[in-house]
Amino acid sequence: MYYDIIVVGSGIAGLYSCINAPKDTSVLLISKSDFLNSNTYLAQGGIACVLSEKDSFKSHIDDTVRAGRYENDIEAVKLMVTEGPLDVKRLSTMGVEFDKEDGGELKMTLEGGHSARRIVHHSDSTGREIAEKLLESARKEINISLAENTFVYDIKKIDDMFAVFVLGKNGKRDAYFASNVVLATGGIGKIYKYTTNSSIATGDGIVLAKRLGANIKNLSYIQFHPTALAIGEGERVLVSEAVRGEGAYLLNEKGERFMHKYHDMGELAPRDVVCRGILEEVKIQGSENIYLDITYKDSDFVRNRFPYIYEKCMEAGIDITKDRIPVFPCQHYLMGGIHVDFNSNTGIKGLYAAGECSNTGVHGKNRLASNSLLEAMVFSRRAAINIDIQNHSYKMIDADIRREGTSLIEPSIKEEIRDIMQKAYFVVPDMGMIAKGLSRLGEMIKGIEASSYIKDKEYYETFNMACVSKMVLEDIQKNGQA
Ligand SMILES: Cc1cc2nc3c(=O)[nH]c(=O)nc-3n(C[C@H](O)[C@H](O)[C@H](O)COP(=O)(O)OP(=O)(O)OC[C@H]3O[C@@H](n4cnc5c(N)ncnc54)[C@H](O)[C@@H]3O)c2cc1C
Repeated sequence: MYYDIIVVGSGIAGLYSCINAPKDTSVLLISKSDFLNSNTYLAQGGIACVLSEKDSFKSHIDDTVRAGRYENDIEAVKLMVTEGPLDVKRLSTMGVEFDKEDGGELKMTLEGGHSARRIVHHSDSTGREIAEKLLESARKEINISLAENTFVYDIKKIDDMFAVFVLGKNGKRDAYFASNVVLATGGIGKIYKYTTNSSIATGDGIVLAKRLGANIKNLSYIQFHPTALAIGEGERVLVSEAVRGEGAYLLNEKGERFMHKYHDMGELAPRDVVCRGILEEVKIQGSENIYLDITYKDSDFVRNRFPYIYEKCMEAGIDITKDRIPVFPCQHYLMGGIHVDFNSNTGIKGLYAAGECSNTGVHGKNRLASNSLLEAMVFSRRAAINIDIQNHSYKMIDADIRREGTSLIEPSIKEEIRDIMQKAYFVVPDMGMIAKGLSRLGEMIKGIEASSYIKDKEYYETFNMACVSKMVLEDIQKNGQA
């Protein structure tokens, strides 16, 4: 089956590029899980954008490059900041309901690193609201076809065409063809033991792009979020920046505030600074017990402003209106990725990347809070409207070309990858563990390739996680300290 554009991923970047694609093109949106299983769906805080006359583009640009330690691509930042407000307004016209003041103007909140209140939000579940409304819009477009629970395991370029190989839910292999492919496959959080990311974040798009010859940049630029709920193993619930934005204090084990020792913005310093501050305090106190305290605020306000966080903490036995919240840093976001130009082109004709899997240069070394939804919208729209639809012809390819194996890949391999990453590079890199980790990951990749494992979704995800982890650690070795 041929399409003008195949979009891989149904987060904000994938959905928004489909919706912006010219109406006379045929588009196929593929997602490896349920359409709403994505990092987008989990976004809490909101979208940063300049909509108030009291704010300015200059201030948003300055905050973005300060957080990014001046390693940002300034032209990309300007594009995002100046074009983004139109995309945010467009979301409203598509039915996304942002919180409003009594007078009807949009409510703006403050987050770490921002010098103005500029975050529009839908209580503390902004991502869910956006994902649901964008999906609804995409479903209404007759030029967009949708394939859920369909895993893209390989993409090949054949002359001017891409063959996109997929595994359906029932394990059936198939191939689709397109003259353009947009990779919008999200982040890599699942290579860590502790992450706020959704289960889909295994770095698949980055491995696919690298295999096609794309340039992968700054993979070690990983953002760790300072305040994930420190309860349980694996995926951890994020306690959004906005909680600190509304005045919550970070406390050490003795119940003392400490962030002002590390930055004059205190709890609202950029995320990397807060993470390092917490780890420093842990060393000083000899205890990993760190808390967020918003109990001094009116309890109705807290419950209404943070219903999702309130509910999630209650499930863990913590009433945030009365109790301190145990928190600890967690892997959260990938700044680097598949390198693209301002129209999200990878440099390989017809291959685009947008959203968290891409590297536009917007975030520099550290993303400013709530800039990622904005970046994903601006650059996925730019990809869609600049796509060059060519005339095409294609040869059918047998999708069942892979050798079938005899045993299932062991889940312990994913665990080992997470263990390596957690030890080698969690907030601060450990060069000794990086060297050891690289050697083990190299062995693992060879082992998986030579194995007789059945090539199912687990197999491909495990392989991709090992490859991406290796790329992250190699990037640290190449670029020095992350
Ligand atoms: C808990 C949390 C809170 C956040 N809060 C905010 C916030 O308040 N503001 C903000 O700006 N940002 C926030 N972020 C970051 C932001 O949500 C993400 O960076 C952004 O949503 C990424 O969108 P995306 O479209 O690139 O990827 P995603 O939304 O993650 O979507 C990726 C898609 O790709 C699909 N996919 C992946 N691999 C394959 C494959 N092999 N085959 C087929 N499909 C595949 C997945 O199924 C999924 O549909 C938050 C992130 C998290 C985790």
